Amino acid sequence: MHRRIQLKKHLHRFASAEFGTLADLRESVRSSPPGILIVGCAEHDLAPDMLSFADPGQCTVVQNLAASIPRSDQPYDSTVAGIEYAIVLQRVREVIVCSHLCCRVVRYWMKQPILNGDSDPGCRFMANARRVVDRFYHYTTESERQTLMICEHTLYQLENLRSYPFIRNRLATGQLRLHGWVVDDRSARVLAYVPMSHQFVTIEKIAPRKRIS
Ligand SMILES: [Zn+2]
Repeated sequence: MHRRIQLKKHLHRFASAEFGTLADLRESVRSSPPGILIVGCAEHDLAPDMLSFADPGQCTVVQNLAASIPRSDQPYDSTVAGIEYAIVLQRVREVIVCSHLCCRVVRYWMKQPILNGDSDPGCRFMANARRVVDRFYHYTTESERQTLMICEHTLYQLENLRSYPFIRNRLATGQLRLHGWVVDDRSARVLAYVPMSHQFVTIEKIAPRKRIS
């Protein structure tokens, strides 16, 4: 089923030229070593690198709670170290921030007051995705609210990624491309962010069963 999730236009401004396509990913995976980094959630039901166009193990994977990335003015952590290693030393050309619709971490963060400060990804989620969805979006069910928060959370992580000079420099010279993905766990289909229309839309393609397309 084709899905389309419309997001508010005023909350994020990304340059379309900084985003890659499925064709870019297919091309990068054919190079040696494959130049794809996936930042995914630690409790993703499917392995984030189970992609229809790549074999398991071909992509570099960094996993943590809800694919969270701190901003450059927040404490440097193992997630940023993993991302920097992949981009600077392994020279990956594509970065996928990969969230998923059935995220139990996000479900927990939606309900709990998280008081550990800005270095806690749950705290950042409250201040960013949870705040803007409750303030700017109209939703009628908790499921809709969760979907919107997961999409907004993904965009905040892409913004945080862009706060690092080693990312921005490579984006400016075309050495690196961004990809914002939300996986539908039930169908293993990918919704990819399109900056031009501020939407997450289904990546249409034929995929083998139980492999993320
Ligand atoms: Zn999750």
